[in-house]
Order: sequence, then C-alpha cells, then structure tokens
Amino acid sequence: MKQREVWLKNATIVTMNPDRQILDGDLLIQNGRIAAVGDVDPAQAVGAEVLNLDGQVVLPGFVQCHIHLCQTLMRNHADDMVLIDWLKRRIWPYEASLTPETLHTSAEVGLAELILGGTTALLDMGTVHHTDAIGEAVKASGIRAHIGKCMMDLGDEAPAPMQEDTDQSFRESLRLHQTWDGVDEGRIRYAFAPRFAVSCTEDLLRRVGEAAADLGCHIHTHSSETEYENEFTMARYGVSNIEFLKQVGITGERSVLAHGVHVDDDDCQILADSQTCICHCPSSNLKLASGIANIPRYDEFGVPVALGADGAPCNNNLDAFIEMRLAALLQKPFHGPQSMPAERVLQLATIDGARALGIDDEVGSVEVGKSADLVVLNLDDDPGCGPGGDVVARIVYTAQKHNVQHVFASGRHLVDKGELVGVDLPRLMARARQDFKEVARQMERWC
Ligand SMILES: [Zn+2]
Repeated sequence: MKQREVWLKNATIVTMNPDRQILDGDLLIQNGRIAAVGDVDPAQAVGAEVLNLDGQVVLPGFVQCHIHLCQTLMRNHADDMVLIDWLKRRIWPYEASLTPETLHTSAEVGLAELILGGTTALLDMGTVHHTDAIGEAVKASGIRAHIGKCMMDLGDEAPAPMQEDTDQSFRESLRLHQTWDGVDEGRIRYAFAPRFAVSCTEDLLRRVGEAAADLGCHIHTHSSETEYENEFTMARYGVSNIEFLKQVGITGERSVLAHGVHVDDDDCQILADSQTCICHCPSSNLKLASGIANIPRYDEFGVPVALGADGAPCNNNLDAFIEMRLAALLQKPFHGPQSMPAERVLQLATIDGARALGIDDEVGSVEVGKSADLVVLNLDDDPGCGPGGDVVARIVYTAQKHNVQHVFASGRHLVDKGELVGVDLPRLMARARQDFKEVARQMERWC
C-alpha cells in the first residue's frame, strides 16, 4: 500500500474549505499530500499517474467520531432490544468473549466497511482487553484513527472479565498510549476511553481527566444517551450527567461525548463553555429508542458537533451516508426544513469531525498542503443520484456507499474503482463467520 503520485483530472471538487468552494478542475496528490487543487501545472505533475474522473465528485474523506470496531462480529445478533438489556445480555457478554484474534477480525471487518464507504478517519471506543489487536488492524488498514481501551471499573453487572481494577485499567491505558500514540507519523493517536459514568468510578474519571490534560490526549466517552445516566449521576453525585463529567475533568475541547440526547440548557452551556464535542449518532439513537439529539439547539449554544455510526449491533451499518441523510432529516419535523441543511450535515461529517479530533490542520477539507484523505464519488452514472442538481444535496440526500469509486488516505489508494485494495473480502468474511461461532460459544458462559 504505497503512497502514489496521482493527478485527478476533470473533477468536481467539493473542498469544504473556509469559503466552501466547489471547483471544476484537477487535483494533484504528491508525497501523501494535496499538492494542487483546481489548476494543476503539468510541469509539477510530471510522472504522476493520471486518473481521468470525467466530472466525478471529489470530497474530503469522512470523519466518524464514535465507532466500536470491536463489535462488528455481533452485527445482526442484538436487535430490537432496550438499551440496558442490549448491553447486559448481548454486548458485554460478547466483548467479554473476544480474544486478540477474534477482536482483530472484528476490527478488520469494520475497517473494510468504513473504508469502502469513504470514511478515512475515526475515533474508536475499543473494548476492555486486547486493544493492541485493534491498533494492529488500524495500522494495516491505512485509515487514520484515534484508538482507545475501554475503561470500566464500577459495577458488578458486567461479566467478570469486563470488571476492572482502577489502577490496572489506568496503567494499561498509559501503556497503550506509549505504544500507539503517534504511530505512522501521527496517523494513529491514543484517546482515553472511559465507557460512561455508570461504569467508571469518580476516581478513574478524575485520573483520566488529569492524564489526558498532561499528555495532550483526547477523551472519548458516552454521555446522556438515556435518561438513566442522569438518574444515576443525580442519585450518586447529586448532579446531571454532563455536570458530573465537568466536575471530574472530562469535559474540554479534546473531549468527545457520544450521543448527548438527554441534556438541558444548563448542560448545553457547560458543553459550549468548555467546547466539548457531542458526537451525534442518529441511527443508533433511533434503533435503541434513545431519542433524538437536538442538534439545532447545540448549534445555537455553540456546542461543537460531529457525526458517528456507533457500533454495528446498534445501527446496523457503519456508513457515513446513512448517518448524514438521517442527521439532516431527523431535525426537520421538529425544527423546520431549513434547520439542518445539506451543507451543515456535510460539514459535520468532514471538517467538524476533523476539528473534534484536533486534526483539522491535516484533514477534513480539500486544501493544498493537507493530507490526501479523499473520496471520489461516481454520481452521474447512477439513476438514483441523477440527473444532476446541487452537488452537496446529491452527496447528503442521494449518494450511497456504492457510489464510492476511490478512497485515498495519506495519499494511499485504499479503494480503487470500488474495490478495497489488498484485502481478500470473501476470505475475510469467511474467517469472520468462523470467528463469530467461536465467540458465540464463549458467550454462553456470560448470557
Ligand atoms: Zn457507543
């Protein structure tokens, strides 16, 4: 998977740059970076491979800020359940049964799906054990990722292997930070990943807050997905879930909280003041009946928002196109048809996601000098996307993952003419089916 020098010719380029320019022209990839956008000087492109796009659409690769790569093998095995049962009877027993090998397979399947769908950067929640297996799969895939080990040191309802000692959980996180943060010129970063307030002690969360500040790391957790989380923190600490996270040092501009469905104005003010990002996961919130996050209200307060598919068992897709379309449509019955326009949603899935991960100087828009993390869509030959119209509306409302023709990440060509480069998919999926059988056998002990 080498970096190639590629001259993309005759494209429609949706830059998502600060002026939101849409250009008809060319783009040059050199040394993994975008060397020219719009006009390419042939003298600069001598020796570059030419890819004639014939009007196909180039846009920044999607950034998904809440993913569980560890859960992909469990897809379609945990449906139509209430969240707490779903978690206790399916997800935790499943995660407790993973080995380094089966976890690696799960991550590989998730990454294949994400890359084929145009996602080039993600924030992963991980699981309690064997996080190195996720790191190895991410490293081999070419995608850009913040990975983390899921931390759980409170409560006795999870299977025994998922119940951690506070010191041990913290030490393992620091070891993983040492091992993975900055790998491959910063393509892989480490993020602390305490699961949620319900399964983490106050002591652990405070230590995470301090360590993340010292190390300049991101923090990734779930928050306010259900009203239960507020009831829990209210009963135990006397404050709302968001107020509690603030008190223990978990909010801040390097924090990403998945969901944010059940919040009040005081919570929104805390998030805005601290510039804490909410990762909106519309499919997951619908499927688990958690509710609908009020994104226009976050916009009014100035709370940063990003987008994510969450995990395969609660979605059941890891597909940025589905999340974008839903993110746009969901708000309209409540707040009017102009409340979540297509461009705002594309921003969530690209530059705003990059900003949430602190990598917006590298990715999230098509600009000279940035990393060549790009998606090419063929919309013109698809009757479902044509015959034309506003290109951003085409991307958000009509495009699907089958429209993805090419994906580049750090200039590496990961998807070529709709095919994942260097991955034997039938073989991977056969191994995934086999591995799931093994996990299911282990799960019986905990169900
Ligand atoms: Zn999640």
